[in-house]
Amino acid sequence: MHLRKTARALASACSVLAAFACQASAPSVPAPRRAPVVVVVSLDAFRWDYLQRPAAVNLRALAARGVHAERLVPSFPSKTFPNHYTLVTGLYPEHHGIVANTMLDQAIGRFATGADPAVRDGRWFGGEPIWVTAEKQHVRTAEYFWPGSEAEIAGVRPTWYKKYDQSVSRAERVRGALAWLAMPADSAPRLVTLYFNDVDDASHAVGPMGARTDTAIARVDSAVGALVAGIERLHLTDVVNVVVVSDHGMAPIAPERTVYLDDYVAMDGLEVIDWTPVAAIAPKPGRDAYVYARLKDASPHLAVYWKRDVPARLHFNSSPRITPIVAIAEEGWSITTRERAKKPGGEAHGGAHGYDNLLPSMGALFVAAGPGLKQGLTVPPFQNIHVYSVLAALLGVTPAKTDGSLDSVRVLLRR
Ligand SMILES: [Zn+2]
Repeated sequence: MHLRKTARALASACSVLAAFACQASAPSVPAPRRAPVVVVVSLDAFRWDYLQRPAAVNLRALAARGVHAERLVPSFPSKTFPNHYTLVTGLYPEHHGIVANTMLDQAIGRFATGADPAVRDGRWFGGEPIWVTAEKQHVRTAEYFWPGSEAEIAGVRPTWYKKYDQSVSRAERVRGALAWLAMPADSAPRLVTLYFNDVDDASHAVGPMGARTDTAIARVDSAVGALVAGIERLHLTDVVNVVVVSDHGMAPIAPERTVYLDDYVAMDGLEVIDWTPVAAIAPKPGRDAYVYARLKDASPHLAVYWKRDVPARLHFNSSPRITPIVAIAEEGWSITTRERAKKPGGEAHGGAHGYDNLLPSMGALFVAAGPGLKQGLTVPPFQNIHVYSVLAALLGVTPAKTDGSLDSVRVLLRR
């Protein structure tokens, strides 16, 4: 710290002198280093093992010069919004409040993703996302899409953020991030996020093994390559830590692996807030015992719990937004009704996620490289509640209290 301060003081003194003369007078003091920058890239639904698919060349190159986890273990439920928000807060969904992509809150109403205005309503988002931690400590941040980034959270917004628009091309997203990084050091953001939806779209449609999924892997891998090349062109490779993550994996589904709730229970006795593969079930008043009794042992492919009895390792009990009954489908199974299945697109085809977060098929990606990270290190699987701690350490900001810990991931850091 002292050394760096000295270097900075010397550098400002040098700015009034000729560079050559200055260098000659202080040959042993290194040039002042620009404060570290972190770019977090999310590749939605990029399963950990896709790293070995032929198309993932840029990601493998990034892993080779940095660190990567054999698998990043998502939080339960292995869904998009809950896990993106866990990645940036270090909190389990039951603690940050985004317990599903679709949910109800007695005081606020209904939350849905996509174009729903709820994604911009800070009341849904608990905890402290890393951009709030950073901004509170006068570190500027810029979000080119991330769940939660459009909302004011704890009274704070990112310095820059974009309204989510799936039609923005990958190239445009990368250009936008690079434009932020190219700003003068004293005004540029030190935390930038990027998000790519391609792999999720493809693997939902055709499953993890479909050809379209491989095409999407190639596309997002190229986007990562373009980002890394752009950082090199800006001569910022020694300044920028690139952290590539995903929120969850994907499992193949099929119509013959479907649980039809109406085969077991009268549907007028309950409301299903979110359907599959984790059904959030709110029985109508006075119908709790009936609904639970009918569903509890209905299908060997469906685990049905009272909210308080959801296994502790899933960390899915405490939020008031978790429904009284939680039904979790077995890997590769879907939950619906006979009527819903008849509607266009109602049958289970392609892929799904949301299942038990310990399943390898739900495993996510963690690859990172940059000045703050070790080189050529592969670590065993770790949980995504620890990613926030890595980001805070790389940025050099004081972290908020989380469910994760830096001790669990300190091994990734260079010092
Ligand atoms: Zn997702």
